[in-house]
Amino acid sequence: MTDIIQLLSDHIANQIAAGEVIQRPASAVKELLENAIDAGATDIQLILKDAGKELIQVIDNGKGMSTTDARMSFERHATSKIKNIEDLFRIRTMGFRGEALASIAAVAQVEMKTRQASNEMGTRICIEGTEVILQEPCAAPIGTSMMVKNLFFNVPARRNFLKSNNTEFRNILDEFTRVALANPAIAFRLFHNGVEQFRLETGNLKTRIVGLLSGSVEKNLVPVHEETDWVKIHGFIGKPESATKTRGNQFFFINDRFIRNAYLHHAVATAYEGLLEKDTFPFYVLFLETDPARVDVNVHPTKQEVKFEDDRMMYAYLNAAVKHSLARFNIAPSLDFTLSPEITKLPSVEIPISHQEKERVEAGYLFNNFSRKDAAHFIDKKDGLRQWKDLYAIAQKPSPYPSDFSPQKTEQNTLHKTEETTASRNMLVLQNQFLVATVKSGMMVVHIRRAYERIWQERLLENWDTGQFVSQQLLFPATYEWSAQDALLLESVLPDLARIGFDISPFGQSTFVVRGLPSSLSSGEEKDVLDEVIEHLRHESQNALAQRRETLTAKVAKRIAVNKPQLQQPEEQQALIDELFACTQPEYAPDGKKVFSFLKTETLQDLLG
Ligand code: ADP
Ligand code: MG
Repeated sequence: MTDIIQLLSDHIANQIAAGEVIQRPASAVKELLENAIDAGATDIQLILKDAGKELIQVIDNGKGMSTTDARMSFERHATSKIKNIEDLFRIRTMGFRGEALASIAAVAQVEMKTRQASNEMGTRICIEGTEVILQEPCAAPIGTSMMVKNLFFNVPARRNFLKSNNTEFRNILDEFTRVALANPAIAFRLFHNGVEQFRLETGNLKTRIVGLLSGSVEKNLVPVHEETDWVKIHGFIGKPESATKTRGNQFFFINDRFIRNAYLHHAVATAYEGLLEKDTFPFYVLFLETDPARVDVNVHPTKQEVKFEDDRMMYAYLNAAVKHSLARFNIAPSLDFTLSPEITKLPSVEIPISHQEKERVEAGYLFNNFSRKDAAHFIDKKDGLRQWKDLYAIAQKPSPYPSDFSPQKTEQNTLHKTEETTASRNMLVLQNQFLVATVKSGMMVVHIRRAYERIWQERLLENWDTGQFVSQQLLFPATYEWSAQDALLLESVLPDLARIGFDISPFGQSTFVVRGLPSSLSSGEEKDVLDEVIEHLRHESQNALAQRRETLTAKVAKRIAVNKPQLQQPEEQQALIDELFACTQPEYAPDGKKVFSFLKTETLQDLLG
């Protein structure tokens, strides 16, 4: 009898193992991009020929490798990322196994150039089917360039098994999109057959989504932001009308790793119940952060499936977070929005609503008692004011303010008194946008959002001048990073931001911790406001410095006003009118647009002939 068992040669064993990790060009792209990110790169280029079949090259500006590490990196189980037993627990969730480069080298011709900042010279290594053909010193920029040529050149069966260029390129784009979405702070470029397909600058998640999926998506993005001690959820969902018939723009990331999960998809989709057309899929990019120990480890790292310790809890939170966002941005009618127990547990649900409500009443009262003397920036159009005040003869119901309330503007006070008739029913909210009130001369139409912008700006200006701001402390301070230039700009304006309730402090290079926000600014929205502020500062001329007070307050006011209350109660409607007309400049929103207009009875008569 002859023995038939043989040991497979390393070569064959590697090829078999490689098949597990590298199935197609897109898998190599994913591994190489992830390595570049792990190396701390801030700028990554992906260069492809023939959908990666001929060439996949990833150039990064990361930390590079020493000569020895460069050689070692291609050995199976060579990894710099697992040093002790604790690290082992992260392997399966993070995907570090030290197998990617070894697998790629087994089935392709690889040329790597790499240099560390501390070395003058870099290293160049050429490997073909696991065999090192050449290793030499070379001139190279800091970072690593990895060229993978003729993938599966030595495994014809696999090479023939590859799909058309079109399909393989689409697979690569999918991986590229996921990696780019998860890393908006890293700049990416993608070239295919010599043509630049993507140039993604450093930015935030929103700019990254726009950069990847066209500018037209921006108006359809609704932010999601919920934090519990069990999971943090953030990202964007699409408005119902932007849902598509085809899948493709649904992204979940667990601890920054892309995953597919039909169960979680269901949690999001059902939150849109009644809002979506049949057989359409809502857009979403959602990041779930949870203790890695709660993510089921019994999952293959290259597959994108995961399980959680408690799937049902994750489902409930995610569903609640999406519903809450849809309601907050007035997409789902919040009236019909019954608060399930999971939702009421979310701190961001409890806090803003009750807080905002309280603020509205209190600030309205306070505001009216503040002196307006130092509001010198407003053009005092006395005559104009008198004109509209005469017109503003709303059939009032008694003021909702306490009886000892005495506005400084006696003129207006008289107005209230003389016009005190019945008639809360003399006001009407139209399409959630306009408040229509009957006045002596006809009717007045108030643009609700602009009215709130005006009111909020004046409240904030008051805060600025008096230093008596109400700041809401965040339960979970948020940290954000900006580019070095932007960080300098932001830093220069921190004292100003503090005057309206922002509690922000620098936290290492280019990173800031946000601990408090102006009251009524919903948490999660601060990043956008701060981005806008930075954008403004970039273009701010020296002589515009004096207007910074106006600009900053206007930006914050605008953001707060987006989440305007529904004004369902006559009292609320009345309070809006009262507070608006207590403003120094009620006629115009901070951006100069008209807040209200009158339709006179004569005009109405003309209109109807
Ligand atoms: P893993 O990423 O799981 O550690 P890989 O086979 O992908 O395994 O890479 C092996 C090692 O090679 C990494 O741990 C890292 O030390 C090094 N390496 C790979 N790519 C790069 C890169 N672009 N820049 C710096 N080091 C790299
Ligand atoms: Mg790797």
